[in-house]
Amino acid sequence: MGVELSDVAAGDFNAPIEKFYATLPQAKGNYKSRQRPIVIEGAMNTETEILIRALKKPVVYREMNYMFVAGTYKDYPVVIVRTEIGMANAAASTALAIKKFNPCAVINQGTAGGHDSALKIGDIIIGARSFDNTAYRSAYSEAGEGIDLTKQENIGTYAYDKTTKKFQAYTEYRADPTLFNIAFAAANNYNGANVVSGVIGTGNTWLECVDYINFLHEKYGSSCEEMETNCAAQICQNAGVPFIGIRVLSDNVTNSREYVPESAKVAQNFVLLVVENYIRDVLKK
Ligand code: SAH
Repeated sequence: MGVELSDVAAGDFNAPIEKFYATLPQAKGNYKSRQRPIVIEGAMNTETEILIRALKKPVVYREMNYMFVAGTYKDYPVVIVRTEIGMANAAASTALAIKKFNPCAVINQGTAGGHDSALKIGDIIIGARSFDNTAYRSAYSEAGEGIDLTKQENIGTYAYDKTTKKFQAYTEYRADPTLFNIAFAAANNYNGANVVSGVIGTGNTWLECVDYINFLHEKYGSSCEEMETNCAAQICQNAGVPFIGIRVLSDNVTNSREYVPESAKVAQNFVLLVVENYIRDVLKK
């Protein structure tokens, strides 16, 4: 069945999705599958169009105005989630996806801004870990003393720990080792992009102050910043679902003033390879 994606692929990064919904069979009620699907997330049209186009027999679910397209890829169930932009949306749509689809794994992917001057636009970062790039406690300073953001500490975000049976602060979330190994192996001999392992910093911020970015890179090892990964990781930690974030640089102010949102395609193509290998080497074994 062909999918007409003229609307989802619209040049406008965040075009309304009403028309696009109408092109897909509307699914109602609960998702049914013998196998637990893989969930792949992207925030915008530009970050999901290739993934949605790759699905066979797609049907669209809509929950709280988030869009979930369920279908198959390489004969295995896959659900593409349009998380929308930002931290709360990423958390909410990930929680809804886990409840509704009971996925065996979640991959959050999309664009990011570089924090590492060795990386260029179009390079892919496999997130060995992610952290909340807003969860800081500043040092005390008196009125009039000025602002020194370098005196901040990462205090983490709260997620469920099954050993202590409590929500506790995590200053980082680590990628699922199996997903990481599959992604890292896929990067070998991959011709579509330069792929590296790195650290993803998440916040509802878009930083262009190079000194501050250099500080974050040195203090927290951040390879890049974006607005969703760590929130999806946090919800997956709560639910005990294997997770990985994979990001492509659309911008990197440490070495360029360019912004290339079309690089979103590069991440989707690589993620499809990771998913194919995960299905073949892990799920169908
Ligand atoms: N493309 C839009 C802006 C998107 S908002 C525009 O043209 O105005 C930012 C989105 O891109 C978020 O989903 C975030 O995850 C990602 N992103 C890419 N580069 C980023 C950066 N430097 N800082 C923060 N988010 C970034």
